[in-house]
Formats: sequence, structure tokens, C-alpha cells
Amino acid sequence: MIIRLKPDVTPEVIKTLAEKYRAIWVDGKQNLLVLPSKIKSADAALQQVAEKVIVTDSDIQLASREFMPGRREIQLGDLRFGGDSRNTLMIAGPCSVESEEQIEQAAQLCVSLGIRVLRAGCFKPRTSPYTFQGLGIEGLRLLAQMREKYGLRIITEVRDSTHVREVIEYTDIIQIGAKAMYDHGILRQCGKADKPVLLKRGFGTTLQEFVQAAEFILSGGNSQVILCERGIRTFETKTRFTLDLCGVEWLRQYTNLPVALDPSHAMGYRYGVPGLARACVAMGVDALLIETHPNPDAALSDAEQQLSFEEFQSLLPALKRVAESVGYRLV
Ligand code: PEP
Ligand code: MN
Repeated sequence: MIIRLKPDVTPEVIKTLAEKYRAIWVDGKQNLLVLPSKIKSADAALQQVAEKVIVTDSDIQLASREFMPGRREIQLGDLRFGGDSRNTLMIAGPCSVESEEQIEQAAQLCVSLGIRVLRAGCFKPRTSPYTFQGLGIEGLRLLAQMREKYGLRIITEVRDSTHVREVIEYTDIIQIGAKAMYDHGILRQCGKADKPVLLKRGFGTTLQEFVQAAEFILSGGNSQVILCERGIRTFETKTRFTLDLCGVEWLRQYTNLPVALDPSHAMGYRYGVPGLARACVAMGVDALLIETHPNPDAALSDAEQQLSFEEFQSLLPALKRVAESVGYRLV
């Protein structure tokens, strides 16, 4: 249950109530008290402080349609997506920052194609410790340089709690990867950040668990969360993962959060990325993330799935047409 607090309730009273009901106080502009969802009615003490009482079905609370009937919009400088904007934010770039030359080539590609958000990881959550782990802080500096030089927005991922602060400081959108989705240290720190967070679904995560992970960020006070479906593990092994488009429709029906799709990590092989990307855009999605690299075969991570610049460039006009055909616009 969510209580929208009256503006004149004192912090002392709120803290006492929070303790009594094991509730979370989302302070600042939002001024909410979020109680466990199994509490279904407000007693006299709660009624007294409540401007509005919202009863929720499950612990999907701040992300629920009961709390917010429409969908949240994200404003990133002059870029707007989610809500009723009917904009699909394009996010493109290599899996990892590998060198100044490589990331600069990717930045130039984005600029030449009108793509405003450059992606690349600096702290890579690799499956093996014997593979490229990312350039770390040096990579963040290179991304910041690309922002300065080309006016791009940056998205990069947090791998673990040792560098959350640095990623938050350098990036424009914080990415929490599929493997980090359960890391409560990261989720809680991102809840205190004042930047949008793109939260990827863990590949063995139910939709309920996925959205509950988002609740950690939302209840920390950060209202800008984007859910990203990037494929889940099924019995199928011919493709890297299985992109759960049914799940996307469920998220859009039952949550108020913008949804991004990542066909690159789902498919795992570049031959399938263009077709899957077109299908994603046809759903009318809030953001689309595609990996592209100047020389994919030589990439230090996710080599098999990254599109060459030529492949990416020739895909873009089709994506624009598909978006337009469903009343959306690529931004
Ligand atoms: C990535 O975006 O490069 C990445 C590691 O993604 P995921 O967390 O979805 O595997
Ligand atoms: Mn990758």
C-alpha cells in the first residue's frame, strides 16, 4: 500500500509510522510512505497523514498501474522517451570501450546517423575471468571525452559495488546488467542517484522478480527506471537467449515503467540481429539497444553478435520505416 503524504506531516511523525509499519519513506518531492503490499487498508493513524491511499496487488508498487495509471516519461536533456511520447530512443555502440580510436569511430558513426546515445561497457561482467574485463576508469574517461567532443549522451554499465559512484558520476544513463540485477548494493545506490537507470532483466529472472528489483531503485527515490528485456535462458541453445516479447507486453500492461529491448544480447549472433531489431521496433518500444563495432570479428567481447558499421547503417532506414508504420519515431 502506498500513502501519498500530506505536505505538512513532520519528518518525526513519518519516521515513527515508517518504523511501526516497516514502511519505506520516499522523501523529497514524492513524499510517499510505501507499506508492505499485504496491508490492504489504512487505519486511523495512516488516514490522518494521507492525502491519498493506493492499494496494490503485490510488491510491485511504485512501478504499478494502480500507483501511476499512465507510463513514466524520461527526459534526458532535449531527448524524451517513454510516457505518451511515441519516441523510440536509439542506443548504439560497441559492447566494450576497447581503445580511444575504437570508441571515437563508434561516436562518429552515431553522429553521422543522428544517434544521440552512445553505449559501451567499461566494467564488463564476463563469464570467464580470463577474458577482457574492460578498461575501467580509463574507459569512463574516454566516454566522457566522446560526450564533450560530439555532444553524445553516454550509457555504460555498473558491474559491482566497487565502482558504482564512478559510473554514476561519468554516465548519463546508468546501466545495470543482467548479472548485476540482483545486486542490492548497486540497486540501492542507484536509488539515490539522480540519473535514469536502465535495468536489464536477469536471464533467469521472472517478470515479478525483475520489477521488484526495479522497486529497490524506485523506493530509494529515483523515479527514472527503464526496464530492459535482453533475453532469458530457455531450453533452446541454438540462439544465445530467447527474447521474451510476451514479457514485454506484460510489463507494458501491468507496470508504469518505460521498456527497452536489446536484440543483440538476446540473439547472440549478428545474422539474426536485424530481423529481431525490426520486430522490436514494430512493437512500438521506448528504447532499442544495438551493439555495433568497427571490426566485430576482432571485438574483445561479444564479437559474434555485434553488427559491423555497414550492417548497422543499412538497418537504420528499415527501422525508421517500421517505427513510422506503428506511429513511432526513432530519436
Ligand atoms: C552489455 O550490455 O554489454 C551486457 C553485458 O549486457 P547483459 O547484462 O544484458 O548481458
Ligand atoms: Mn555486450
